Amino acid sequence: MKIVMKFGGTSVADGKRIRHVASLAARFSRENQLVVVCSAMGDVTDQLISLTEDARSGSEKAVEARLAAIRESHLAALKEAVKSPEVAAKVRRKLTETLAQLGQLARGSTILRELTPRSRDGILSSGERLSNPIVWGALLDQGVDSVYLTGGECGIMTDDNFGDAAPLMEVTSYQVKENLGRIMDEGKTPVVTGYIGATQGGEMTTFGRGGSDLTATVIASSIGADEVWIWSDVDGLMTAEPKT
Ligand code: ASP
Ligand code: MG
Repeated sequence: MKIVMKFGGTSVADGKRIRHVASLAARFSRENQLVVVCSAMGDVTDQLISLTEDARSGSEKAVEARLAAIRESHLAALKEAVKSPEVAAKVRRKLTETLAQLGQLARGSTILRELTPRSRDGILSSGERLSNPIVWGALLDQGVDSVYLTGGECGIMTDDNFGDAAPLMEVTSYQVKENLGRIMDEGKTPVVTGYIGATQGGEMTTFGRGGSDLTATVIASSIGADEVWIWSDVDGLMTAEPKT
């Protein structure tokens, strides 16, 4: 079967839970073609929203404290989730890149005391761009050949309604099918950030709160998945028939 597995924030809240998610995916990847979609860790999206508020009010100290906390929690999760030093180094490079971008956006808007909707999406999308590389690393660590992609890299193209973007389904379906099809045909498991798309100009967009479920269903309908499995934040499992 082709299955899209989506894990909410609680399921990937720390390194230990990320290892668990990866072992579930590893188990099902033996007999199925999987796409893994994850939310930001725990309440990281809320932390990022608070970060944008502190930035807008010019609270330099609060911004630095939040950036440090976000950095620490993700590096701790990486340490717990990924044992192989080579894999950990690869993931750490990704995290460092995203943390640097996040820092620039947050510090820039702290100085200006202003935040455009576009920069805000740059900040809010960081949570998924930090959690999913760790899941990717945990999968590699458990012997699953895996590829990490942002929503935009996966082919999810949206309008430019930042903060509440809508996928442009025609082009998205085509691109997602192409991109993920190629990866899955090589026997690899894609790990795709929930909640995020990109405009035609390549700017990062977000779907609004809880948007990772939308990512999962958009991917499922694009690749013609047999099922979508959504591990919700209240640790239940819901399945849905995507071809309706
Ligand atoms: N991380 C985003 C949120 O908390 C998207 C999601 O989890 O679905 O709203
Ligand atoms: Mg969430």
